[in-house]
Amino acid sequence: MFRYAVFVAVLLLPTLCNAQTVIHAGKMIDVAAGTVKNKVTIVVEDNTIKSIEDGYTRADSKKLIDLKDHTVMPGLMDMHTHLMMQHHKKVYSDRFFLSEADFALRSTTYAKKTLMAGFTTVRDLGDNGVNSVSLRKAINEKWILGPRIYTAGKSIATTGGHADPTNGTKGEFKREGTPLDGVINGTDDARKAVRQRYKDGADLIKLTATGGVLSLATNGQNPQFTDDELEAIVQIAKDYGMAVAVHAHGSEGMKRAVLAGVDSIEHGTFMTTEIMELMKERGTYLVPTLMAGEWVAEKAKLDDYFPAVVRPKAASIGPIILSTFAKAHKAGVKIAFGTDSGVSPHGDNAREFELMVAGGMTPMQAIQSATIEAAKLLRVQDKLGTIEAGKLADLVAVKGDPTEEISHMKQVVFVMKDGRVYRKAKK
Ligand SMILES: [Zn+2]
Repeated sequence: MFRYAVFVAVLLLPTLCNAQTVIHAGKMIDVAAGTVKNKVTIVVEDNTIKSIEDGYTRADSKKLIDLKDHTVMPGLMDMHTHLMMQHHKKVYSDRFFLSEADFALRSTTYAKKTLMAGFTTVRDLGDNGVNSVSLRKAINEKWILGPRIYTAGKSIATTGGHADPTNGTKGEFKREGTPLDGVINGTDDARKAVRQRYKDGADLIKLTATGGVLSLATNGQNPQFTDDELEAIVQIAKDYGMAVAVHAHGSEGMKRAVLAGVDSIEHGTFMTTEIMELMKERGTYLVPTLMAGEWVAEKAKLDDYFPAVVRPKAASIGPIILSTFAKAHKAGVKIAFGTDSGVSPHGDNAREFELMVAGGMTPMQAIQSATIEAAKLLRVQDKLGTIEAGKLADLVAVKGDPTEEISHMKQVVFVMKDGRVYRKAKK
């Protein structure tokens, strides 16, 4: 037995030694310091960053990746995606014609596009059941390519609210929602729905505190949860160590959610100065999803794109999101990057950086929102979000310097996740 163990160890030794990768980075963004360093060597061992060294060292390494013409930064993190969907004109009929397997298989292409665009970590904020839990497993098991996923599973709504899955359907399809499908009424249901998400394997909770643009319902802003329902959700989520992300356009529902102690407000369209102050006091994040605002406003201009009940909401809510973001950023509200991709096409996520800069952020702040700030919102800043020894080796690179020209973020050419290279930069 002992001899066998020695034999195996000798066989494994070269593989273990080879697990070291050396990257020569022309520039490296230190998102913690908010600076760009020139000529840096990053040493990666297995899935972890081992060291960061000044200058180009270890040039004789067998696994040397030359990114001297590139800017290297931490893997990007999108805090608001929907990998089970991608909006199209007839999206509302998908639920009648696509099976769970169809949704899941289609999502694998979205996951790959997201990873290849440099987004190594995402939150999935609402699917049609537990498919994103399976998608997360398929990626973790390396069956398919995709980002590291933190999923909310099915969003929690109230009857007829944004994310009630049978909104807008006729007779036999318009069944009563239950906490199982994330429809609650009252505090008992609220508690049960959170526990159900925990049982399903969700990482966090998403709820829809106000009406939404794309649901088949009239109001895009009304409050849809009572204070006691929100408090019950936050309390149980806390018990299970789950963060709470809240979709909110209208100010009343948004304020109730912030006061209940949620972790992030998604969209935040009609955020008042009072709510901004409350968020600053409590450390609540805004995840702006500027791309979703831009996308729905564009589509609302077309005569035949949205159903009649959706079009006026898209036209009135979409254009407001960017100006609210600008005010919130100026006021000092914490911002984490999120696109609502799945509304706009997956893989285009980096467009959000341009919009954030248009709304008043510096390029560095926009990049920080998608790295160190996102990691804090996810509560994983001990292992992700910066390039530091001991952290997971999630690294991406672009040509040129995105802190000087933010549009470079749309051209990610190198992607490493967990120490493994998924996209190689061409010379
Ligand atoms: Zn969303």
